[in-house]
Amino acid sequence: MRRIGIVGAGQAGLVLGLGLRRHGYDVTIVTERSAEAVRGGRLISNQCLFHPALTRERELGINFWDAYAPEIDGVSVTVAGEPGADEPRIAWRAPFDHPAQSVDQRVKVSEWMTGFARLGGEIRQRRVSPEDLDDYAREFDLVLVAAGRGPQFDALFPRNAILSPYSEPQRSIGILYVKPAGDEPLPAITSGLSVNLSDGGEFFGLPVWSVDGPVYGAGFFGFPGGPLDCWDDVADTEQHFEIARNLLRTSFPWLAGLLENTRPSGPLDALRGRVQPVVRQPVGTLPSGAKVLAMGDTAVTNDPVAGQGANMAAHAARSYEEAILEHGDRPFDEEFMRRAFARYWDRARYSTRFTNDLLEPGPPPDHLLETLEAGQEFPEVAHRFAQLFVNPADYLGWLTDPTAARAYLADVEARTAS
Ligand SMILES: Cc1cc2nc3c(=O)[nH]c(=O)nc-3n(C[C@H](O)[C@H](O)[C@H](O)COP(=O)(O)OP(=O)(O)OC[C@H]3O[C@@H](n4cnc5c(N)ncnc54)[C@H](O)[C@@H]3O)c2cc1C
Repeated sequence: MRRIGIVGAGQAGLVLGLGLRRHGYDVTIVTERSAEAVRGGRLISNQCLFHPALTRERELGINFWDAYAPEIDGVSVTVAGEPGADEPRIAWRAPFDHPAQSVDQRVKVSEWMTGFARLGGEIRQRRVSPEDLDDYAREFDLVLVAAGRGPQFDALFPRNAILSPYSEPQRSIGILYVKPAGDEPLPAITSGLSVNLSDGGEFFGLPVWSVDGPVYGAGFFGFPGGPLDCWDDVADTEQHFEIARNLLRTSFPWLAGLLENTRPSGPLDALRGRVQPVVRQPVGTLPSGAKVLAMGDTAVTNDPVAGQGANMAAHAARSYEEAILEHGDRPFDEEFMRRAFARYWDRARYSTRFTNDLLEPGPPPDHLLETLEAGQEFPEVAHRFAQLFVNPADYLGWLTDPTAARAYLADVEARTAS
């Protein structure tokens, strides 16, 4: 039986491990925290998963929360007008073709770890260093590093400068989960994915199934040095909550009511920081000459502004699983690893391009604003934009090209008029 070693129990490593166990592979996941520590720990992500990733979880039978998790049936978009204006200059709502869902990764990871062990997978608790990997390369037929973002495996998987346009993080991020302060439910504006653009950055909101039930995830993404770049010195969740309420009043006044009559859902239900977007060389060479393969955020980290990372981690798990199954008994050599990554990148490149373009400094380009504006009048345009979060492949050749974007708008207008 082929032995697969995976470093890291996140969306990428666990979905791959669970998938391979179903095919009888001998899978070991080495990860730094126990299921209990993950569940009881600090917030990890905002993890809005769209239909393709949810479909994969359903195929694997690991969709344990479908009966509870709130359906995210569409997206509402607003764009701020002049500074201080109480109403946005653009506002529309469009449905997704299929609902999205956000289940707190603390819940998912801890329950999947238990499920993986139940399926006969081995979990070892250990923080793995690059120096440990040669031992694993001797023990396993294939070693995957799915240890999330950050610099810990920088030397092993160097940055691909051609595919990584940013050498610094582009957003200051502050996420907070809240729940109703009293018996009143959250206001109706908390249904769906809320995407809001201002001069200082973005506000994203969404309903989440969390550790103790339903909450609302409120996330700010601030341009460096702007008014939403204010999270570095925040001491605790209470202070985070106060700042979040103020930011809504000042930068997104039409959403000011959102956090009224709410409370932070727990002292660890906040996350602050910056994410360095990077695409890495996916195959690492160990001192022995053995090769290891990066996956998930370890291979490609996108800023969470477009909500693509967990979706791409799920896609990596599917691509790598298919590559492993098709490879049969042959050795997992460098060529195999490059092909497995290429299979993943074939789709991940669209998420990366979409995300990196959203991160561009300065106001959104005119053709994008014209498209968002048209979304108010033409449901087809709004729907097409909403679906970009689900399948960013449509982005290329549409919003990457002002001429094509305007031609599409002219076509929609002409069709609607006739
Ligand atoms: C604020 C924020 C909001 C986000 N919102 C969204 C969203 O709405 N939609 C979306 O799709 N994505 C979102 N993401 C991104 C998403 O969370 C990640 O892309 C996704 O979790 C990556 O999965 P992964 O398995 O590659 O890594 P991770 O989820 O980071 O998992 C890595 C695992 O490896 C373990 N580990 C790390 N180092 C070691 C080590 N040295 N040894 C052993 N174990 C180790 C960790 O403990 C963890 O269990 C968001 C991210 C952030 C930060």
